[in-house]
Amino acid sequence: MSVKHLEHIGIAVKDLDVAIPLWEKLLGVKCYNIEEVAEQKVKTAFLRIGEVKIELLQSTSDDGPIAKFIEKKGEGVQHVAFASTNIEEELVRCDAEGIRLIDSKPRNGAEGLSIAFLHPKSTLGVLTELCEKKTK
Ligand code: ZN
Repeated sequence: MSVKHLEHIGIAVKDLDVAIPLWEKLLGVKCYNIEEVAEQKVKTAFLRIGEVKIELLQSTSDDGPIAKFIEKKGEGVQHVAFASTNIEEELVRCDAEGIRLIDSKPRNGAEGLSIAFLHPKSTLGVLTELCEKKTK
């Protein structure tokens, strides 16, 4: 089992210019990184509390996954992400346990992480992300 701890909570927002100051006020810490992940059509902003981060996600395109999520469900918690020390092994394990994968192979996420999503249809509606610090 290579899952170690909650890494971050992903929150879909319409406008980072509104969401960042709100979360800074709420948590009393400053956003320390803003990063665009072009392949996911998303701009991300991060705040950190201890080991756990808040990832604010704003879509950069009307047809991106975050835009579609907000259209269906409105703004709010979009996914939870767990830190893994071996994401590939974890994907094989989840697959063997009958959990449907969105990504069978890790891809590049923000913050220098390799990431992969599990399908919410097989996780009782919770979009779950596994992430691993890229060292290779
Ligand atoms: Zn995430």
